[in-house]
Amino acid sequence: MPPLSHRTVVDLPTPALRGARPAPLTAQHVPEALATGPITRLVDRHGRTVRDLRLSVTDRCNLRCTYCMPAQGLQWLPTPDLLTVAELARLARLAVEHLGVERVRLTGGEPLLRRDLEEVVAAVAGLRTRSGAPVDVGLTTNGLGLDKRAAGLREAGLGRVNISLDSLDPVEYAAVTRRDRLDDVLRGIAAAQEVGLSPVKINAVAVAGALEERAPRLLAQCLRSGWQLRFIEHMPLGPRETWRPQEVVGRDEVLRVLERAGFELAEIGRPDRRPATLWRVAAGEGAYGAYPGGSVGIISSVTAPFCSDCDRTRVTADGRLMTCLFSSRETDLRAPMRQGASDEEIMRIWAQATWGKPLAHGTDEPWHAPDGFERPSRTMSAIGG
Ligand code: SAM
Ligand code: SF4
Repeated sequence: MPPLSHRTVVDLPTPALRGARPAPLTAQHVPEALATGPITRLVDRHGRTVRDLRLSVTDRCNLRCTYCMPAQGLQWLPTPDLLTVAELARLARLAVEHLGVERVRLTGGEPLLRRDLEEVVAAVAGLRTRSGAPVDVGLTTNGLGLDKRAAGLREAGLGRVNISLDSLDPVEYAAVTRRDRLDDVLRGIAAAQEVGLSPVKINAVAVAGALEERAPRLLAQCLRSGWQLRFIEHMPLGPRETWRPQEVVGRDEVLRVLERAGFELAEIGRPDRRPATLWRVAAGEGAYGAYPGGSVGIISSVTAPFCSDCDRTRVTADGRLMTCLFSSRETDLRAPMRQGASDEEIMRIWAQATWGKPLAHGTDEPWHAPDGFERPSRTMSAIGG
């Protein structure tokens, strides 16, 4: 086994994708069908079809995770700029009932900071996909206050929940999030499980420095508790100075850390075009106690991006459509909605913008990004992760 280092240099991948430089989208690039024909789905010029909508309900947050936000927070959007429940519900309805979206995930910022979140969930959960199936409604949250809201959210129709938790050590948790709130999060996770939100997934960002300590303990606890743990590679979507390509802890290093701690892993693959690659974990016993068998996921957006079959579209809390997390192109859906645009008009704007979705991270303007990643103008919390 090679010696472990916290700072592993990774080769950033996919030069073939990154070499491509799509022409800027102009009216003449939009096919005739999208200009005048009926709009029935969201498809881009690289042949990918959108099935997953990430709807951000706020840009505000009560934590200050180091990889996401500066310590002082950000300039929040004024409340009137946020999409209302009716506007969020309208976009979700168009996406699910008319444009082929099958999954809607509510995110932020911290979505629990919206007091009317239950209303949003109820409006989305009542929708049926074009095949008549109920839409899959999920929430990505830091879990603060979830203990008091889980039952109401479940009742409103929420199906599943992803909760961010980077460490089980209160001091480390506070160092990452800049707030001493570990107990609150653990209460939130317990409540989610109790009311039957399923699966409960735990998101942990694999940040250089403390993975060897955090990761095995977190995995052992998640296996014992029935939570599905997924490590996310650190992306350049937080404060600029907090990300350097040579410090990215890639999938291989996460696996090495877990294997060195005694976990026996066998690759399962990437089910359903979901972002996480899964590994089966055999039952065992290690420094962090005994654990049953289960699985662990790694989302390797940096070292092995899944852009070629990305099926997502994102709408920010102020109603800007972002076809890619890394896109510097935004399309305003809120203004046309507030100016009285018809459903047809909104869907046409959405479909035309989707046509121009970039092929992969950084391909829009690669000459601006020596590491291959063109940073969007917004950070993760303002886009909706
Ligand atoms: N506040 C909620 C939460 O933390 O779950 C929802 C919004 S947060 C932006 C969504 C996800 O993005 C979280 O799981 C968080 O860990 C992840 N995230 C934030 N900044 C990131 C970064 N620079 N790289 C990778 N993941 C990041
Ligand atoms: Fe807030 Fe989520 Fe960003 Fe942490 S990752 S600062 S909880 S938005």
